[in-house]
Amino acid sequence: MDLEDSVTKLPSIGYHYALLLEKIGIKTISDLLSYIPYRYLDFTKQVEIAKANVDEIVTISGKVLEIKNIYTRRGLTMQNALIEDNTGRINIVWFNQPFLIQNIKKNQKYSFAGKVSLFRGKKTLISPEYERSQTKGKIHTGRLVPLYSSTKGLSSKWFRSKIKLALEIYQDQIEEKFPSSTLKKLGYPKIGKAYHFVHFPKNEEEAKLGRERLAFEEFLRLQITSLAKKINWQKNNLSYPLKSDGQTYNLFKSLLTFNLTPSQERSIKEIASDLKRNYPMNRLLEGDVGSGKTVVAAFASFVAFKNQKKAVLMTPTEILAKQHYKTFKEIFEKTGMKIGLATASEKIDPENADVIVGTHSLIHKSVDFENVALVVIDEQHKFGVKQRAKLVEKTKKEKYQPHILTMTATPIPRTIALTAYGNLDLSLLEEMPKGKRDVVTWIVPEEKRAGAYNWIKEKIEKDKDQIFIICPLIEESEKESMQQIKAAESEFLKLKKIFKDFKVGLLHGRLKNKEKDEIIKSYKEGKINILVSTPVVEVGIDIPSANIMIIEAAERFGLAQLHQLRGRVGRGEKKGYCLLFSENPSQRVYRRLEALRKESSGFKLAEIDLKLRGPGEVWGIRQHGFPELRAGSWSDFEIIKKAREVAEDIFKNRKKYKKIIEEIEEGIV
Ligand code: ADP
Ligand code: MG
Repeated sequence: MDLEDSVTKLPSIGYHYALLLEKIGIKTISDLLSYIPYRYLDFTKQVEIAKANVDEIVTISGKVLEIKNIYTRRGLTMQNALIEDNTGRINIVWFNQPFLIQNIKKNQKYSFAGKVSLFRGKKTLISPEYERSQTKGKIHTGRLVPLYSSTKGLSSKWFRSKIKLALEIYQDQIEEKFPSSTLKKLGYPKIGKAYHFVHFPKNEEEAKLGRERLAFEEFLRLQITSLAKKINWQKNNLSYPLKSDGQTYNLFKSLLTFNLTPSQERSIKEIASDLKRNYPMNRLLEGDVGSGKTVVAAFASFVAFKNQKKAVLMTPTEILAKQHYKTFKEIFEKTGMKIGLATASEKIDPENADVIVGTHSLIHKSVDFENVALVVIDEQHKFGVKQRAKLVEKTKKEKYQPHILTMTATPIPRTIALTAYGNLDLSLLEEMPKGKRDVVTWIVPEEKRAGAYNWIKEKIEKDKDQIFIICPLIEESEKESMQQIKAAESEFLKLKKIFKDFKVGLLHGRLKNKEKDEIIKSYKEGKINILVSTPVVEVGIDIPSANIMIIEAAERFGLAQLHQLRGRVGRGEKKGYCLLFSENPSQRVYRRLEALRKESSGFKLAEIDLKLRGPGEVWGIRQHGFPELRAGSWSDFEIIKKAREVAEDIFKNRKKYKKIIEEIEEGIV
C-alpha cells in the first residue's frame, strides 16, 4: 500500500469514477492528494441561528423540522426547509434540487453554510452547502471549504469527501523525502502537513503554505526530469571538439563593424567553452528581437570553420534564410569562409559551403551533411519538435552528434526557461546593442485615428519615415488563414485610399517568394512608404529604416506578441514609434497595453504578462508547449528558483537525498 496505488483502492471509487478522474490526469492516490483547490469559501463563522445576520456568510447547525418540494407555476421546483436550534429557527431554500428531500432527513441534525439573505421578508439561507452533523469534524461547512475545478460527474463535494478518505487511509504511507534541515531552509511544511494544509486549512496562511510546498514538488519533478535528460545527453553523445582561443575571438571581432554588447561577449565565451568539449553543446540563446543573436551564431560558425568543420543554420522562413545568408557573406567576406544557401526555391552552392543557411527544406534536400559539427536553429519555436530532431538526426553520425545552438526571441524569464528547457544550457542577451533607443509607444483610441493618420502623413513628408501597419489578428494560429489574408487585403485597399499620395505595399504569407522578396527590397530601399502586413510578419526580419508601427486591434494580441511586433521598428538611426490602436479596451486589456507603453524589456514584460493573465493563457508559453501545471503557476518565480537549486543539489549530493535518488532510479519521479 502506498501513494502510487490506483485511486480505485479507495472505497466507492470504481471503474466509473476512475475513468472520470483519469480524464483530468488523476490516476494515483498521490495525484488525488495533489489536486489542489482553486479557491476556498470562508464558512468559518459558526453562529447560533438567532445571531445569523442578513448578508453574512455563516455556518449554522440545527435540527431539520421540515423539508419539502414546492412546485412553481413554470414547472420548476424549490426545496424549502425549516431548521431549529436552541436560539431560534431559520428557513432554507434551494432551487431545482428535488433529490435533496431524500438526502436531508427530518428530525436529524445538520450543518448548513451559506449567505443569509432576506427571502420573501424572512431570514433565509439560500442554496447552502450542507452536511450531517458528526463528531469527526466538518468537511463541507464550518471551515475554509475548498472548491476544486469540478468536471462532469465530479463535484467539489465529491472531491472533499474522497480526499478526506484518502488522507485518513493513507496517513501512514505519506513519507517525507527531504531532510528536515532542507525543509526548514526552504520554509516549507512536511509533505503530509502540506496535504492537510491544502485540503483542510485552518486559515489562508496554511492554505498558501500547503500550495507552495505542492507547487515546489511539481517544479522539482520537472527539474529533475530535465536535469536527468541533460546528464544523459552528455553521457551518450560524442562531439567533435571545436577549439578556439583569444586569437580566434579577436579575429572575429575585427570582422564586425560594431562592438559587441556585454551579453553578446558573455554568450560567445559560454559557447566557445561548450564547443571545446568532447560532448556536444546543447544551448539555448534567448534574446529580444534586435538584441543581436545572429552575430553570436556567426561566431560559433566561425569556430567550426577554423576547425575545418561545417555549420548548418536553419531558419523558419526563406526571407530570414536570405537575410542571414547576406549577413554572413558580409561578415566573412575576407576570411575565405564560404556561405551557401538552400531553400525550397533557391540554392546557392550548398555543396561547397562551410556554412549552409537554409529553411527546413534543408532536411529534405540532398544536402551533404558530412563533416557538419554545428547546427544552429533560429527562432526555434517556429519548428516542430520533429523537424528539429530530424535535422539533428541527419547530421548525426553514430555516436557523433553536432553541437547545437538554438535561438529564440520569445522572452521567457530565466527561471521559467530553466524549468521548461532545463535540459539546455542557457545564454541570455539581456541588453540591446548601443544606439538602440526605446520605441515611444502610444495607446490610440478610435477617435484619434484620423489625427494619427495625419501625423503619419506629415512624418513621411517631412522625415521620410517608413511605417509598418499590422492588421488585426483574426485567430491565434501559427499559419495564416485565408480569412486573415482577406482582412489584410481589405485593410490594404482602405489604406491605399487614405494614403493616396504615398506608396503602400502589402505583405502576407501567401505571396510568392519572388513577390515577397521584391516588396521587402523596395521597402528596404525606401520605395514603399507604408507596408501593410498580417500579424505573422516574417519573424526576425531586419529593416533598420522602418521606424513607425501601427498595430490594429492591439487588444487581441498577447503582451509578448505585441512586444515582438514592436521590436521590428526603431532599429536604425531614427526614433521609433509604436501606435496601439484599440477600441474601448477593457480595464484588463488597458493594463496590458499600459505595461507595453511603459516597459521596454521583453523579459520584464513576460513576467508582467504572467501576472496579468492566467499562466495557461500566456501566449509565449502555450506556443512553446510548456507542460501544464497543477499546483504551480508559471508566475511562481521564487518557488521555481528554489526547485532548480534543490534539483541541482540532488544530483550533486546523492547521499543527502537518498530517498529521492531511489525514487528517481525506480522511475517514480
Ligand atoms: P535578433 O536578435 O533579433 O536576431 P539581429 O541579429 O537580427 O537581432 O540583429 C539586429 C540588428 O542589430 C542587426 O542589424 C545587427 O547588425 C545589429 N547588431 C547586432 N549586434 C550589434 C551590436 N553589438 N552593436 C550594434 N549593432 C548590432
Ligand atoms: Mg534573428
